[in-house]
Amino acid sequence: MTQAFLSIAWVVSSILFVSSLRGLSHPETARRGNGFGIVGMLMAVVAVMLAADVGNHVFFALAIGTGAGVGMVLAQRVGMTAMPELVAILHSFVGLAAVFVGYAAFLDPLQHGNGGRSILLVEIWIDVLIGAITFTGSIVAFLKLRGSVSGKPLLLPARHFLNGAMFVASLVFVLPFLMGEGTSALPWLLVMTAIASVLGVHLVAAIGGADMPVVVSMLNSYSGWTASAAGFMLQNDLLIITGALVGSSGAILSHIMCKAMNRSLPSVIFGGFGADPPKGAVPAAAQPQGDVVATEVATLAGELAAAKAVIIVPGYGMAVARAQHAVRQLVDLLRKRGCKARFAIHPVAGRLPGHMNVLLAEANVPYDIVMEMDEINHDFPQTDVVLVIGANDIVNPGAQTDASSPIYGMPVLEVWKSTRVVVLKRSRSSGYAGVDNPLFYLENTRMLFADARDGMEKVVAALGAA
Ligand code: NDP
Repeated sequence: MTQAFLSIAWVVSSILFVSSLRGLSHPETARRGNGFGIVGMLMAVVAVMLAADVGNHVFFALAIGTGAGVGMVLAQRVGMTAMPELVAILHSFVGLAAVFVGYAAFLDPLQHGNGGRSILLVEIWIDVLIGAITFTGSIVAFLKLRGSVSGKPLLLPARHFLNGAMFVASLVFVLPFLMGEGTSALPWLLVMTAIASVLGVHLVAAIGGADMPVVVSMLNSYSGWTASAAGFMLQNDLLIITGALVGSSGAILSHIMCKAMNRSLPSVIFGGFGADPPKGAVPAAAQPQGDVVATEVATLAGELAAAKAVIIVPGYGMAVARAQHAVRQLVDLLRKRGCKARFAIHPVAGRLPGHMNVLLAEANVPYDIVMEMDEINHDFPQTDVVLVIGANDIVNPGAQTDASSPIYGMPVLEVWKSTRVVVLKRSRSSGYAGVDNPLFYLENTRMLFADARDGMEKVVAALGAA
């Protein structure tokens, strides 16, 4: 394939990737956006395969085939709630690939780059540095999200000094690396890789469980910048563009999520935020504190039948129970009765960004009744019944009142301002952040103890018969 054709393929793929991101920004166009992404990637892979400098096509096809096969099996098997783990481990592959590509470029005697050897060596250094941090950081994130290691932040004394020292050392060692003749500088690259790997582990280990959503999207961003650095090294324009798209969209998503959780990005990246309670704060309780009032399916159905305005707040429990189809049936019934039924979506509900939107779209819930937190938070005082389905942290009033809580300051859905709140979950246990929820003990709150799907199906049947 000539360079001209290759350049055209790069430009078309880049346009398709940008269109894909645009499509993915709204549930209505997400499917089309995904399609653009698939076509763009297919085109990029075929163009690389046909490119003149790819020697062994069989080996290339074998590698792509194996990767695609493993990816398809993984994507089909993984549950929606395990998606952040999958994303984290996939980021680690990007990081590892970048490290390998960096070493290959360094050891390849024919590789000289566009701007001379020094520029190439700096590109290799940056690629391996970000790649190694992404690789080990993503593995720690994967283990934390899986629950294989504790979600508690690892707070070593002088941790900021340690991070700083490792980062400075990684930068300073580039000088002897640049001065080495041929491959004689390899030990410096190895030393930096080891330091960056430890830095990756330490950075993510210091981040508490409650901040993990932001970490996943930060690692997404790092993996993009690694790919971009590899693009400079390999003089591959498409890799530079794609890497920059992933890097910047991951950074923007991290910023949005930080805002949603009232965190500052540096405090999440450097860890330990919220680990030390402010002076004079009373420790938050993880154990249930107070008495709850339980309710029955029939009582809830009666309250829903009489309600003029209902808001449904879905959370992680709805996802685990796969209750979204029953929830959709409930909303259909309520709307048929002339009730104004809507959904309130918290930006970090569930276990991945957009988790609830995806599930509700899968159940064909109309988009115009799915509201973001900022759009609906002021409507709770005018709402007769709020039905909280398998959600906990995102409706915790302690986030506004308990300064010692790990989620203190996180904006929450103010469900307690409605006339009646019914929380559907299996027990009084805490959510992801591991803190008790004072909402359960309020006068206007009722608890419906059930599995979300089973409970919803019974409520639908009771309301249908009412
Ligand atoms: P939470 O984890 O706070 O609460 C979920 C609740 O669902 C639990 O208290 C549990 O209670 C209940 N539950 C579990 N299974 C079922 C079931 N089968 N039927 C009914 N209820 C069930 O979830 P939220 O959505 O409220 O909040 C999300 C949390 O996850 C936040 O802390 C957020 O920071 C964090 N997070 C978010 C990510 C994201 O990107 N969105 C990524 C990673 C973490 P019980 O056991 O009693 O049933």
